[in-house]
Amino acid sequence: MPFKKREIILILGILFLMIGMMSFIAPIYAVSIAIVIYFGVRVFVGRRKKQIQESIVKGACSVCGQGIIKNKCPNCDKLKDSRSA
Ligand SMILES: [Zn+2]
Repeated sequence: MPFKKREIILILGILFLMIGMMSFIAPIYAVSIAIVIYFGVRVFVGRRKKQIQESIVKGACSVCGQGIIKNKCPNCDKLKDSRSA
């Protein structure tokens, strides 16, 4: 549900941007730019969602609870590095 709400906000934002662009460029360009931005944002959000899902699948650190990224805890591995250095 929150994703759908965000999508409506995205569409509204792009619509306003498109209307704004129409005042100084040809409407056909404004519409095509709006479509490109919309799909660009969709791809970006989709990738981020996938990244978040991947980090959830890999679980959380048993020490600090931070999400595991590439089989490493970004929190504890950083601490280990600074201690050994
Ligand atoms: Zn940790």
